[in-house]
Amino acid sequence: MSKDNPGFSTLAVHAGAQPDPTTKARITPIYQTTAYVFDSSDHAAALFGLQQFGNIYTRIMNPTQAVLEERVAALEGGTAALATASGHAAQLLIFHTIMRPGDNFIAARRLYGGSINQFGNAFKSFDWHVRWMDTSDPGSMEALIDEKTKGVFVESLANPGGTFVDIAAIADIAHKHGLPLIVDNTMASPYLIRPIEHGADIIVHSLTKFMGGHGNSMGGVLVDGGTFDWTKSGKYPMLSEPRPEYGGVVLHQAFGNFAFAIAARVLGLRDFGPTIAPLNSFLLLTGIETLPLRMQRHCENAMTVAKWLKTHPKVSWVNYSGLADDPNHALQQKYSPKGAGAVFTFGVKGGYESGKTFVEALKLFSHLANIGDTRSLVIHPASTTHRQLTPEQQIAAGAGPDVVRLSVGIEDVSDIIADLEQALEQA
Ligand SMILES: *Cc1c(COP(=O)(O)O)cnc(C)c1O
Repeated sequence: MSKDNPGFSTLAVHAGAQPDPTTKARITPIYQTTAYVFDSSDHAAALFGLQQFGNIYTRIMNPTQAVLEERVAALEGGTAALATASGHAAQLLIFHTIMRPGDNFIAARRLYGGSINQFGNAFKSFDWHVRWMDTSDPGSMEALIDEKTKGVFVESLANPGGTFVDIAAIADIAHKHGLPLIVDNTMASPYLIRPIEHGADIIVHSLTKFMGGHGNSMGGVLVDGGTFDWTKSGKYPMLSEPRPEYGGVVLHQAFGNFAFAIAARVLGLRDFGPTIAPLNSFLLLTGIETLPLRMQRHCENAMTVAKWLKTHPKVSWVNYSGLADDPNHALQQKYSPKGAGAVFTFGVKGGYESGKTFVEALKLFSHLANIGDTRSLVIHPASTTHRQLTPEQQIAAGAGPDVVRLSVGIEDVSDIIADLEQALEQA
């Protein structure tokens, strides 16, 4: 580590923060305020006209949130970030910035169930259309692209199947067609993968999961990679054409390599309003300080548990890319050599009923719809997170009827295994 190029763990603790200049408070305060005093009418006018940066109103920005944004941008290696009330809100703002009615985008078929729902159902109301691709065959996406395609969306490590995707191969094809690659990095976190280094242009997170890490706050963030030319094709008018509400400013011209983050804030967040609460920004910032330590332990524990499950007579299969014989192992080694994450699936012999009994018999594991908590978590995706999908979609998303999903926590691994053992005995 050097002063100019701090290491990841140093950034996780310090990026974006400094002692409060007024009070000398060492920790970033919770700026629990809705609005900010202007120095003068001219100052107010300059802020409203985007000629000067500064706080106006907490729907659009907040100082606690700003530290969170700087920290995540630093961890992902992006130029700027925008934090939001949830991961889904960040996805909405990303697509609002690139899509016009009638447009389409390409998304991986293997995604978090909520994202499949948002893209396939809610986005239809905006006349935005998703085209599903099979990420195990990146070349197959070329046939889905037409003149109304505006972007490509994948998860770096897909939820719930725990599958790594070939980000660089997908980025190359997207860029060949003049499209930005958007990567949901929730399951891996930038500790394991920094997708911008592999060609991604925009990163999105549910901060609710590993980034916050303690299961106590909702939050989302988008990170601008600063890599994409929003003007070249003329397909992204929000960024490349004059904005009447800001005195005719062209955002890409005015803000260069962080124009996307600005557009998502001043056109998306401003008008839709999914603002993150200052308290949540504070809790998420605190969580991020220990991200590297937690991810190390999460990955170690998950590997030990996966190996143990693999030898258990009541387990029919284990899908963990950290295992040497897993079909996804080569991609894991390429993209995420530090570990294969903490979320994976396996099958309990006896199918749906045994799976259900098993989940209900667990004591240390909490049965709930979340991942990335310090606590070990379990869910049966087919009856919960992926319930709204058709059986075919469930299987395509890695959430078939016999699938149990674990999010392995940071407890003592011997206790985690003891709990799994007693529950498997009952299944
Ligand atoms: C949870 C999750 C989301 C949605 O985030 P929320 O904070 O729940 O809105 C998106 N993508 C992935 C991979 C997730 O796990």
